[in-house]
Amino acid sequence: MKNLTNKVALVTGGSRGIGAAIVERLAADGAKVAFTYTSDSSSEKASAIVAGINAAGGRALAIKADSRYPDEVTGAVSATVKEFGSLDILVSNAGIFIAKDVSELSLSDYDELMDINVKAVYVATLEAIKHLKAGGRIITIGSNMGDNAIMPKTLLYTMSKSALQGFTRALARDLGPKGISVTLVQPGPTTTDMNPDNTEFSDFLRSRMALPEYGTAQNIAALVAFLAGEESKYITGSFLTADSGFNA
Ligand code: NDP
Repeated sequence: MKNLTNKVALVTGGSRGIGAAIVERLAADGAKVAFTYTSDSSSEKASAIVAGINAAGGRALAIKADSRYPDEVTGAVSATVKEFGSLDILVSNAGIFIAKDVSELSLSDYDELMDINVKAVYVATLEAIKHLKAGGRIITIGSNMGDNAIMPKTLLYTMSKSALQGFTRALARDLGPKGISVTLVQPGPTTTDMNPDNTEFSDFLRSRMALPEYGTAQNIAALVAFLAGEESKYITGSFLTADSGFNA
């Protein structure tokens, strides 16, 4: 039996990058996996992920749901439970980055980034815990920038990822008595559309690492798979940082 056989997972933002790798890894480990995405341009990619998992004998469901809208987020949780009959693992991964000097930031920048990076995590969690049982997992993708404001022009992103730390600590206290663990994965620079590893900016980021290598989405997915499984049950309220020693 595989590590996650009989488990059902929902991953937000699973069409590309880290989220797609998490979807594929959880499915390879035996879970039935639903995932959200939002762009029309990602529909084909989402269908291809579902087809690949189904072809390998797994079960997957792609849900078009924009994390900016709470009813679409709660709808994704309901659609997962409707399709697979239960929910065991919520991975809130969808996130955006806005790079602007503080003098250029607006209230609408705040709303957009916080709605996706923080509010949607809160909304998905409140809906998910209606279904999670003992052994359930709430796993959120933060960033090593939650601990480290590495450069200017990152105010909103850094603030949002630090907020997830308080979310993780406090929620672990609420859900511990129910046997549900709550953890935060904090990737460092990981090569995706959001942060490709072949730019001048990536050279700067590599220069700050102890081990000067970008992570891969699969590196982060491996950590999530561990946290989703039985072997991690002693871990809750914790942040696991995988950043090539960036914050060392
Ligand atoms: P990408 O930009 O490569 O992918 C983002 C994913 O999130 C896509 O699947 C996208 O869907 C989805 N998404 C974005 N906005 C929304 C929305 N409004 N509603 C639903 N889905 C949405 O990002 P990464 O894979 O790099 O990042 C994933 C997470 O990891 C984020 O939370 C990010 O902050 C975090 N992270 C990334 C790091 C990195 O270096 N890459 C470092 C530290 C943290 P669609 O395809 O439809 O656009």
